[in-house]
Amino acid sequence: MQKNYNPLIGLIIDDDFAKKHDPPYPNPVFLSYETPLRISVILNYFERMNLFRNERIKKLSPRTIEEDILHLAHSQYHIDTIKRLTNFGGGILSEDVFIAPDTYSIAKKAVGGVIEAMVSVLENKVKQAFALVRPPGHHAFREEASGLCIFNNIATAIFYLREKEQYKKRIAIIDIDDHYGDGLARYFYEDPSVLYFSIHEFDFLEGDVGFISDIGAGDGRGTSINFPIPMYTTDEDFLAFFDVITPILNDFNPDLIVVPAGFDMYFADPVGNILLTSKSYYEFTKRLLQLAKQICDGKIVFSLEGGYNLIGLPICCYAIISALLDEKFSSHPYEELDFSGRSKIREITKIKKSLIKTLRPFWDSL
Ligand SMILES: [Zn+2]
Repeated sequence: MQKNYNPLIGLIIDDDFAKKHDPPYPNPVFLSYETPLRISVILNYFERMNLFRNERIKKLSPRTIEEDILHLAHSQYHIDTIKRLTNFGGGILSEDVFIAPDTYSIAKKAVGGVIEAMVSVLENKVKQAFALVRPPGHHAFREEASGLCIFNNIATAIFYLREKEQYKKRIAIIDIDDHYGDGLARYFYEDPSVLYFSIHEFDFLEGDVGFISDIGAGDGRGTSINFPIPMYTTDEDFLAFFDVITPILNDFNPDLIVVPAGFDMYFADPVGNILLTSKSYYEFTKRLLQLAKQICDGKIVFSLEGGYNLIGLPICCYAIISALLDEKFSSHPYEELDFSGRSKIREITKIKKSLIKTLRPFWDSL
């Protein structure tokens, strides 16, 4: 490790995320997947693996924020809707969003968690951070909640940096959730200072967004990038997207990398149809960290998005931390499945070539 390199990794933790915003629906109803258990299983697993005894791990608490911060990314109408429905005792806001009697405060706290993660990294309190927050955020829009997301945690935190911390440097978002982060992408669609890259499962049912040809607009053309992958992609082919993102990150030269860390590409996830094991999250992080060290002094912020298999979720989160710690990691025995003969490399190579052709006018090193 180089001299003066801050070795600390921040984990944003708060008990409320493991208790509140509890869906009152029976499993396996879709709305029941986004449960406080997601956080408690992660924390229990970290405890069991003695992670909190590691001197490089630093627990951090979400920053307390007021409603004015939510205004940076959301309309008064949207904030009031969440507040009122919370005060009424909750209910179903749309087919894929529920509100519980304590949702408003915890959704606000999730934003405060991501703000704390970003500020701690930029102030060099820690070198990387992982915000273990929920509800997730990357489907939330300025005017509405969507896809289990209430407020857009990452977008709000970036606007916080811009408006409250006068931080104007370039930020790259690498979204690895199974789904296209439609809300998050929208905020920065015309903003050349924030690059949004998403690798996601191509959704044939709602396949009207997140295409290769969706590249941003106005000054932001070329800084919105989609790498859609087919169903049943495995560990073997997943990391092929580094062939696209590596030269682009080198060209873009961000000061900070943010990862909306969804784990619903996990093979046993009840929502996604990709076949990753924890090995992919480990290898992904190792490669990204190596790049980040060359480009932005290793500064990366991870923020929990989706991922609903309660056995796999903690293992995958642990895989990310192990890679950041530069420790060895071996897959869980439960993941030793034979996916050979499932290769999607032909489709993925086609997607890669087509994406490179689309983006070449915007990036010199492609
Ligand atoms: Zn997702």
